[in-house]
Amino acid sequence: MKRLSIIGSTGSIGKNTLKIASHLKEEFEVVALAAKSNIDLLEEQIKEFRPKLVAVYDETKAIELKRRGVAVEVLASMEGLTAVAEIEGADLVVSATNGSIGLIPTLAAIRKGRQVALATKEVLVSAGSMVMEEAKRYGAKIIPIDSELTALFQCLNGERREDVARLILTASGGPFRNLSEAELRSVSLKAALNHPNYDMGTKVTIDSSTLMNKGLELLEASALFEMPVDKIDVVVHPEQVVHSMIEFVDQSIMAQMGEPNMLPPIQYALTYPTRRRGLLKKFNFTKALSLQFYPPDTERFRCLRLAYEAGREGGSLPCFMNAANEVLVQRFANERISWPAIGEKLEKLMLNHPIEKMSSFDTILAIESEARELAAEA
Ligand code: MG
Repeated sequence: MKRLSIIGSTGSIGKNTLKIASHLKEEFEVVALAAKSNIDLLEEQIKEFRPKLVAVYDETKAIELKRRGVAVEVLASMEGLTAVAEIEGADLVVSATNGSIGLIPTLAAIRKGRQVALATKEVLVSAGSMVMEEAKRYGAKIIPIDSELTALFQCLNGERREDVARLILTASGGPFRNLSEAELRSVSLKAALNHPNYDMGTKVTIDSSTLMNKGLELLEASALFEMPVDKIDVVVHPEQVVHSMIEFVDQSIMAQMGEPNMLPPIQYALTYPTRRRGLLKKFNFTKALSLQFYPPDTERFRCLRLAYEAGREGGSLPCFMNAANEVLVQRFANERISWPAIGEKLEKLMLNHPIEKMSSFDTILAIESEARELAAEA
């Protein structure tokens, strides 16, 4: 029996994690759940999975949940999330919050030596080298959940690192991949929220439309697999059947593929290093399937270029970029700035950012809050 603690149980990854936990209920027990604010769904999850501890980041919502008389201890705020991450007896902590609130609890789980199934991009983007160092020090294994990262992780299984020539991340290209520069000037919020293959949260979906989502995955992959960004390429692959690839020194390319659906990647992270029967049908090769691959246009989609620059410069720049992007995306989602302004403003902010060494956790928090302030005014 594997015991699970889930940070971000009411988001799309969290919900799918619980779906797999009930599909494989002889093998998984849910011991703790944490959510940001959706206490209605959390209450249902408590009834179904009977965790020993829950936490709600929003303090008012935590009090409201307690008042409803749920049969479990309810904690609040960042301390609550951290308690869920650190709970005794958990074998696997699923880190699936939206945005950087997952950073502190994930680091706490790592420092307890827990195995971490990681979906929250910010953890490796903002604090990549620190997180990897801590994971080594405390013997915590990090298993990625993201479809591209699990693809790379699975292709690297059993391979010698020195045999790897490059990592190749595939990108859907987002809903605007075929639009001209002029057309991109006037895209609407509604259009940006229309992802071709996946149903995800607002932030990730907008990031997919700007290719920043791929930029963040680039930085994540660079940290997790300890590869410089210049050994990681991005190729647009609209069908999203090939989830990512590894090219070896002998030019063999290994790809991991399947239905564009988050259930297999999440399930692999939960059952790693073994595999169990999945929830999807067999892949359908009885109908014709054509796959396209082409290079991304980093002029029209400058956010991807900015992520490469952040990866090359290193230091505080990836963290700064990520936090500033979060605010700019929020401003676009509130219809305060245009779609191209996300990348344009981000580029200006990054150019003016004096890069610092990431020496401590406090530096990360300071860089993030500085980036947020500047991006709110930009
Ligand atoms: Mg992805």
